[in-house]
Amino acid sequence: MKFHLEASYRLSADAKGAEGDVREFLESSADLLKKGAAEGKGARVLGWDLDDGEISVVIESDRYVRAHDAVLRLRRPLAELLGKKHRIGVRGIEVNKYEIEVESETSIDHKIPHVREMVHRDGTLTLSLEVDEADLRNQVPDRIVSLLDEKIASQGYGGKAEHWELLWESPQRPAKFEKDPTEEMVGRGWIKHGASRGQWIYGPEGTHLFRAFERIVLEEMIGPLGYREMIFPKLVTWDVWKKSGHAMGVYPEIYYVCPPKTRDPEFWAEVMDHYKVTREVPVELIKEKIDNPIGGMCYAQCPPSWVFFQGRTLPSDDLPIKIFDRSGTSHRYESGGIHGIERVDEFHRIEIVWMGTQEQVKEEAEKLKDCYRRIFEEILELRWRMAWVTPWFMAQEGKTGLAEMTGAGTVDYEALLPYNGDWIEFQNLSINGDKYPRGFNVKAQSGDPLWSGCSGVGLERWASAFLAQKGLDPENWPEAFRDRFGEMPKGIRFL
Ligand code: ATP
Ligand code: ZN
Ligand code: MG
Repeated sequence: MKFHLEASYRLSADAKGAEGDVREFLESSADLLKKGAAEGKGARVLGWDLDDGEISVVIESDRYVRAHDAVLRLRRPLAELLGKKHRIGVRGIEVNKYEIEVESETSIDHKIPHVREMVHRDGTLTLSLEVDEADLRNQVPDRIVSLLDEKIASQGYGGKAEHWELLWESPQRPAKFEKDPTEEMVGRGWIKHGASRGQWIYGPEGTHLFRAFERIVLEEMIGPLGYREMIFPKLVTWDVWKKSGHAMGVYPEIYYVCPPKTRDPEFWAEVMDHYKVTREVPVELIKEKIDNPIGGMCYAQCPPSWVFFQGRTLPSDDLPIKIFDRSGTSHRYESGGIHGIERVDEFHRIEIVWMGTQEQVKEEAEKLKDCYRRIFEEILELRWRMAWVTPWFMAQEGKTGLAEMTGAGTVDYEALLPYNGDWIEFQNLSINGDKYPRGFNVKAQSGDPLWSGCSGVGLERWASAFLAQKGLDPENWPEAFRDRFGEMPKGIRFL
């Protein structure tokens, strides 16, 4: 990676009289520009010029002391020199040209902010930046470099191969059923497709099944471990997703939410009249009358709950704090991936969240894992496994590796679908390190870093896994589950 910067220091007066001092300063700047970099690395001044009212410099560097850091580093000692001896002030820095060269197999075929031009030739990608001094100080070039690193790393991976490592596997269990459970449920009238894509309406039987799963979670985990129920918002604003990290990459899967530009009926009269006359909803016209998206519908369940804790300090005596939410749906645009109730655009999930010191959060994760294991082994008798995967908070930022914090990361729970031989992720459990407390500025009284974890119990996925393996007839279900399920409610009948 190579950085080439042409910039000038704007002065308060002509500095011809200071030329000798400036020369001496710039020619002896090598140490300053290599400070902090490894032997032989860093930035250097290739050339300079003193014109009326400005000193222009050409700086080249590698990625260690980047050229823009170099030009900022030189500013203060230069100002001191000119100020003390010559009574000349440095007013600012003008960036005339800033190019970053990086080896890359491919180009990037979309616009990047502050990149004026991108040229790909002979395995080198050259970006010309459009930046001013404030952008240099605000680390815009550094973020462009990180973005390039990310893109180039993903070329190496050949796409988005996520980390996956088996942690534990249940014994083999002969399947009681070989069919697609969604088709079977539809056939029996337990569920019906909703009007929207990837959306289902659960009849009394399907709903009873979901509630039975919820009761198990409540009775086996949430109750005994002392979790308190809360109600988290289901419309999530950009502000929340900026703090949670989702703003880095969640865009292709969001259901966006736009408020009306005004609620003045006059403003909407044209839309209403259009519908009254044509019986068509004029969506193009509506597009003109709604405002920019303020965010989207619930994607991951816990981020908006952190606003409750934002900016506050938690008393040591109250840690770990354990809460959960089951107050509403989650929505994801799954595109062509939707299948049955396994992958839907609207789903139901219990989200379990805990926070405390690092030790408390890890300990709590183990307790939850024990409960889950008991549920899947002794009540549901699933064929299931656990895998250590790229944490969701990195996956959603487009990263594929593991977390840098030791002990932080995600465990996916997967179950076998006998009808197609695939394994489906039916829930997960994550230790998110200090990610959320840092993002939302939440502290522990002790001053130790506050950590948190979360676990999402996907009811559609539990149902898919269980029914795919056990079928829809309660006589084939494990007794412990049959007991908890109770009596099958009467379904809705049609003539
Ligand atoms: P997948 O890889 O299957 O898309 P994911 O990694 O996107 O899953 P997470 O973001 O980890 O899923 O979401 C947590 C949980 O939410 C999942 O374990 C699953 O139970 C549930 N979930 C996520 N997406 C869907 C969906 N489209 N339909 C039903 N449940 C879902
Ligand atoms: Zn979560
Ligand atoms: Mg997904």
